[in-house]
Amino acid sequence: MNDPATNKSFPWAKQWPEIGDPRVRAAFAAVPRHAFVETSLQRFADEDTPLPIGEGQTISQPFVVALMVQALALHPGQRVLEIGTGSGYQTAILCELTASPGSTSGSTVYSVERLPVLAERAARTLVTLGYHPHLRVDDGAAGWPEAAPFDAIIVSAAAPHLPRPLWEQLAPNGRLILPVGTQEWDQQLWLVRKLDGRLAVERLGNVRFVPMISPLFADPEAWAEA
Ligand code: SAH
Repeated sequence: MNDPATNKSFPWAKQWPEIGDPRVRAAFAAVPRHAFVETSLQRFADEDTPLPIGEGQTISQPFVVALMVQALALHPGQRVLEIGTGSGYQTAILCELTASPGSTSGSTVYSVERLPVLAERAARTLVTLGYHPHLRVDDGAAGWPEAAPFDAIIVSAAAPHLPRPLWEQLAPNGRLILPVGTQEWDQQLWLVRKLDGRLAVERLGNVRFVPMISPLFADPEAWAEA
């Protein structure tokens, strides 16, 4: 079997004792991160750090992506919504984690990005690597209502609070992970569960994400209670 510890796509394997889920480790071993950054930055793709992807945005730190997707405990065939496609790297990881035999890779993955340039580049990279998630250029704070409900929702940009549409589009017993905070130095990672229709929040620690930009944030009614 492919040993993730020696796989070139997964140089961080030994440094990640917190990531015990073998399916998450296998997903990181399968996705070549260098394919998601521009040529001049590819030699840094093995480093466990964020990297610029243009438009003032970054490809997330692999360890943070691993912690977030592990917390979602995804199973094959589950429906997942991602807000902030960015480079598409995390989207590919989600495709690996939800892949089920006989289905196209990514057929249950939905990802929204607000910047067309990034969305187009991510689409090309993903298709080249054989991933076929559903991609959309739009405000992700509004979710993807026609494709709801989702078993899991993952947000890659920090919001001031939990956007109500995302909460409403989460399936019963679903899990949603998002960075919450208005300042770059003051963000908490929230793991939200929908249990009997009620919101349960677990705070997983401090993180640093780019801000989520949405007209929804001007409207106090747009927040779920927490
Ligand atoms: N997981 C991505 C992270 C990209 S950074 C990766 O590893 O490449 C976060 C992304 O969220 C940026 O591309 C930014 O443009 C996007 N974003 C910010 N606000 C958004 C919104 N309201 N809707 C959709 N995408 C948004």
